Amino acid sequence: MQKSVFNIKKFGWLVLLATPVFLLLAMVNVEKKDHISSLNNAKPGPVVFDIIGFSSNFNAPKEAISLRKQVKSLARISENNLYINGQTNSPRVTLTFDDGPDAIYTDRIVEILNQYDVKGTFFCIGQNVVKYPQVVEKINSFGHIVANHSFSHKKFTQLSSSDISLEISKTNNEIFNIISKYPNFIRPPYGAVNQFVLNNILAQDMVTVYWSLDVFDWLETKEFVLKNIKQYTRNDEIIILHCNKNTAENLPQIIELLIDMGYDIVRLDKIIKRNAYQNTSITDFSNQECLSL
Ligand SMILES: [Zn+2]
Repeated sequence: MQKSVFNIKKFGWLVLLATPVFLLLAMVNVEKKDHISSLNNAKPGPVVFDIIGFSSNFNAPKEAISLRKQVKSLARISENNLYINGQTNSPRVTLTFDDGPDAIYTDRIVEILNQYDVKGTFFCIGQNVVKYPQVVEKINSFGHIVANHSFSHKKFTQLSSSDISLEISKTNNEIFNIISKYPNFIRPPYGAVNQFVLNNILAQDMVTVYWSLDVFDWLETKEFVLKNIKQYTRNDEIIILHCNKNTAENLPQIIELLIDMGYDIVRLDKIIKRNAYQNTSITDFSNQECLSL
């Protein structure tokens, strides 16, 4: 009996001594597990550039500056839905051309791109697609991307949900009638994007593509455009240009300058690593060759 009391006493002391040590070890272990799981969950967010664009002839109104800030913060929280710039972290840039097709300049731009073996992306207005289907066909046949730039070039921020939906689907259908593929990329006119617009685009399963560098090609002299490209171009830049006379004339020098600066000019889908058309199979974007989607 006495022996048993002695054993309990001994056991009690052991428990008293061991408990804090055990608790300490358990806490360290939990902390370690938490740290490992937070490391596993820690996914780097998208790299989001400042949207750059200056003009000597056009002072961006305050609304434009605040729009750029708003779009940048939207891009941070809308990974995979809204792209301002590429995500390759290498010396690659892409050229995008808005507001076509038209009777003269889009065709010339395609010819110039072909001469330099460069692939571009054309954000087409649906109304123009209806007028110039042969130009859309040509864009596609040479491996350039045909993308959506609304049907009637209205600000989506001023439209209802159903009107945004119509602007998108009418253009997609017109493009499909010509090239038998539905675009996956859309650039809302004037870059007028907010969460409401983004949600409506997402409801159509499309990816919104903004731009990171605007050189006001439709307004500025060749010297200004080239100077701005030289000064501001970064790796992964999405450069916005337009289907017009100025750009058709300046494009050879724009391409030559970018090549001289050491940039690979690649197609938009390669720089943002998303398919250019809907319902296409997953593509290996590590491939350097141009894709024939
Ligand atoms: Zn436009």
